[in-house]
Amino acid sequence: MTEAHELLEQLVAFPSVAGRPNDEIAGFVAGWLREHGVECSEVPGDDGRVNLLASTGPGGGVLLAAHMDVVEVEGQPWRGDPWRLRREGDRLVGRGSADMKGFLACAMRAMADATALALREPLRLAVSTDEEIGCVGVRDLLPAIAALPQQPRACLVGEPTGMRLVTAHKGKLALCATLHGSARHSSEAPLADNAVEHAAELVLALRDRGRELADGRRDRRFAIPHSTISVGPIHGGRALNVVPDRCTVEFEVRNLPGEDPASLLPGTGAAEIERLAAYPALDSEAGPLGDLLGVPSTSERRPGCMRSRASPPPSAVRATSATPTAPRSRSRSSSWARAPQRWAVC
Ligand SMILES: [Zn+2]
Repeated sequence: MTEAHELLEQLVAFPSVAGRPNDEIAGFVAGWLREHGVECSEVPGDDGRVNLLASTGPGGGVLLAAHMDVVEVEGQPWRGDPWRLRREGDRLVGRGSADMKGFLACAMRAMADATALALREPLRLAVSTDEEIGCVGVRDLLPAIAALPQQPRACLVGEPTGMRLVTAHKGKLALCATLHGSARHSSEAPLADNAVEHAAELVLALRDRGRELADGRRDRRFAIPHSTISVGPIHGGRALNVVPDRCTVEFEVRNLPGEDPASLLPGTGAAEIERLAAYPALDSEAGPLGDLLGVPSTSERRPGCMRSRASPPPSAVRATSATPTAPRSRSRSSSWARAPQRWAVC
C-alpha cells in the first residue's frame, strides 16, 4: 500500500458530506500537513466551516486545488460501507475516492515531498469545503488567495476528467424568477391572473431560445458544442381550487467561452430576476504545465459525468479569476416578456 493510498483510506473514513460541519476532516488534513513540515492556514467560512490554504514557501508557484467534501450516500445501492475504502479489481472504491479525495491524498503527499526538494518556487494547496453544493467554501478561499503577496502562476484542479487535461469550461448563470398573478377561486378563473400560466410562457420562451442556441455559435471542443439553457424546479399554486398568484421558475444558462450568458436569454421587459449562482467560462492554455504533465488536452468533461459543476474547471490552467459575473439587463424581447406579469426577487 502506498502512502497516498493509506492517506486516501483515512480521508474516505471521514463522512464529510457537503453542507455539514467539516472541522474533523479539516483538522486532520491541516494536522497531517503540519506534521510533514507544510505551513497550513485555516480559512474560516460560514457556520463554522473550515477551508485550508497551505504552502511550501514564499513566491507565486503552482496551486493545487481540491475539495474535502463529498456528496450524500443515502438511498444509493452501495455494495459495502461507503466510508471504508476497499479494492475492487484495479479500482479503489469509497465515497469521494475519485471526486476528489484521491487527488487530495496525492496533493497532500506531494506537498510533504516538496518540503524536501529545492524548489525554484513553492507548491501551494487550497482545500475547500461545500464544493458539491455550489462551491460555497471556495468563496472564502478566493480572497485569501488574492491576498497572497504573489499570485500562483498556475492552478491544477483535481476534478476527475479521466486523466485528461481540460483547459476550457462553459460558464454558468443560474437564475430564479418569481411570477405573480392574482388569486381567486378557480370557478372564477377567467377573472384571475394565473401566475403558473405566466410561468409556462416563460418556460416555453426559454425552450425556444435554447433551440435557437443549438443552431448558433459552436465550439467543437465541448461535448455539447453550443451554449444551452435548462429549466429546473418550478413551484406554483397552493390548492387546485385556487388560481395560483405566485410561481417560481429556476433556470440556467451554460455559455461557451466568449459569450455573455445574460445576452443569450430571451428578454424580460421590466422583470426582476434573482441570480442564484454564476461563474465565468474559462478558455485557457495548458502552457508549460501541460507539457510537464504530459497528457493530451481536451475541453470535454469525462464521458458519463452528469454532475453539474459549479467550480472552476477541472483543468491545469493559468491562474484565472473566478469572480462571479453579475446578471445584466437583457435587450431582446419575447412574447412572455411583454406579457403583463410582474417579476420579483425570490
Ligand atoms: Zn469534485
